[in-house]
Amino acid sequence: MALRPKNKLGGTSGATCRGPGSAGLWLRQASKLRAKSGQTSDSTVQELSRKEKTHFNKLQKRLRRNVGNAIADYNMIEEGDRVMVCLSGGKDSYGMLDILLSLRQNAPVDFELIAVNLDQKQPGFPEEVLPTYLEALGIPYYVLEKDTYSIVREVIPEGKTTCGLCSRLRRGSLYGFAQDIGATKIALGHHRDDIVETLFLNMFFNGKLKAMPPKLLSDDRKNVVIRPLAYCKEKDLARYARYREFPIIPCNLCGSQENLQRVQIKNMLAGWEREYPGRTESIFRSIRNVAPSQLADGKLFDFNALRAEPADPAAGAIAQDDELYLPAIRVVNL
Ligand code: SF4
Repeated sequence: MALRPKNKLGGTSGATCRGPGSAGLWLRQASKLRAKSGQTSDSTVQELSRKEKTHFNKLQKRLRRNVGNAIADYNMIEEGDRVMVCLSGGKDSYGMLDILLSLRQNAPVDFELIAVNLDQKQPGFPEEVLPTYLEALGIPYYVLEKDTYSIVREVIPEGKTTCGLCSRLRRGSLYGFAQDIGATKIALGHHRDDIVETLFLNMFFNGKLKAMPPKLLSDDRKNVVIRPLAYCKEKDLARYARYREFPIIPCNLCGSQENLQRVQIKNMLAGWEREYPGRTESIFRSIRNVAPSQLADGKLFDFNALRAEPADPAAGAIAQDDELYLPAIRVVNL
């Protein structure tokens, strides 16, 4: 794998520790502080009309709050962490880096952010776009070069979607590189909608109730993966990318279409959302609020051990059925 290292590692360290308090709490506060100030250093945002600026500030505040809360809820970033931020050139990863950089300014914990892009050698990949963007930001970054495109083309028959294998190869390369640079966390740009879509894909096609966790230990237990955008809506990230004018690199340069099944799920969720606004959020909330005794997985809940308690004849009442919300019925002998 070829490597194009840029900027010295640690060249820009994070904010210094600002006294007591949990990282989570401070990240929440940082989110509030930054949002209140409404500050932005980006010239394109400065040029917005007053009304647009208000929209932008609200959006930025919401995204910062969402990211700060996700980091806090799952203890994603701790003192001394070296976070490898995976940048694909898509709207989500740009947004993730942008928001992490701004949260770091007021965070109570000192952590590093290192941007890493994997150049997979898709034909037409604009090599200079990300380095130019990252140079301007002045943060440490690496561009890895690995021709996974040729491997994918060789292995997957013509006309079949290549994204599954492509993503696996990309993940493998990035996980290995994280260890090379001593990264303690790998940040991926999956958002709330990706998580909900994955939940349905697994239900519909794998017969499994599983999604994408906000924090994950890799199978070889060598990497901790975090998803700081887990609470962010895709729509918000798309709007944010437009306001910030990120230099987006399309993923389908290779000519592959997005996995058809994922597209169908996306459309299904969009249809539900139009008819019942808030449904996607409700589904997402459900995966944070699981009741194993109300499902059917014997590995999560010991159904075999269930025994009713002996009835108390003195009570003379039928217990309330919490599940059906029926009132207790008292039996009276006339
Ligand atoms: S569109 Fe091409 S580059 Fe993007 S994930 Fe799919 S195969 Fe890989």
